[in-house]
Amino acid sequence: MVASYTQLLAQRCKGRLDSDADEFIAYAVDGSNRMQGLIKDLLAYSRAGITGKALHQISSENALKEALTNLRATLEESGAIVTQDSLPAVTMDETQLVQIFQNLVGNAIKYRTPEVPHVHVSARKNGGNEWIFCVKDNGLGIESQYFERIFVIFQRLHGREEFEGTGIGLSICKKIVERLGGRIWVESQPEKGSTFCFTIPERDGN
Ligand code: ADP
Repeated sequence: MVASYTQLLAQRCKGRLDSDADEFIAYAVDGSNRMQGLIKDLLAYSRAGITGKALHQISSENALKEALTNLRATLEESGAIVTQDSLPAVTMDETQLVQIFQNLVGNAIKYRTPEVPHVHVSARKNGGNEWIFCVKDNGLGIESQYFERIFVIFQRLHGREEFEGTGIGLSICKKIVERLGGRIWVESQPEKGSTFCFTIPERDGN
């Protein structure tokens, strides 16, 4: 309601009040839109890793496909090139894997340099009892002192003026992965790009 009505105010009253009023309405529209985004992300965080469904085998290939469909506008606008290995079946909730891929690939494109973003999604088996998935980019990279901090809710290395965001995406990925008994981490060098990796333990049947 707040977002819709401030937007309506902005549309209907622009130029009919003084310029201060136009500016204040624009701030109100921006603030209510951000509040909406924050609430949506917080809800996603509070639900992350919780599933009422019995876990069964799903195709991580399909999960990535769905994440890329959800990111279509971002992919088109950035001209990003996404490549992938053949990806395995794993035992987890498919929606949650879509969410992880969407956050990691979305970030790989968002935190890009002026170069065309290249993203590669890979998977390999680790010692026979878990899968390691990695999402590699050629983006801005991260200094090693921040490798842990970025997974903490609300922690961001970039201001809102530079890149939009609430600082919740990676904490959602961490929560989902850890509830399944896996781990998530980043390997990166500033200006050289980043590789985000997470593990999914094998359960009976995969
Ligand atoms: P958001 O993108 O909303 O800020 P995230 O939790 O997804 O929230 O990410 C936290 C922070 O980690 C980001 O603000 C950014 O500074 C950094 N980050 C995440 N992914 C990447 C990446 N692929 N390359 C460089 N920095 C990244």
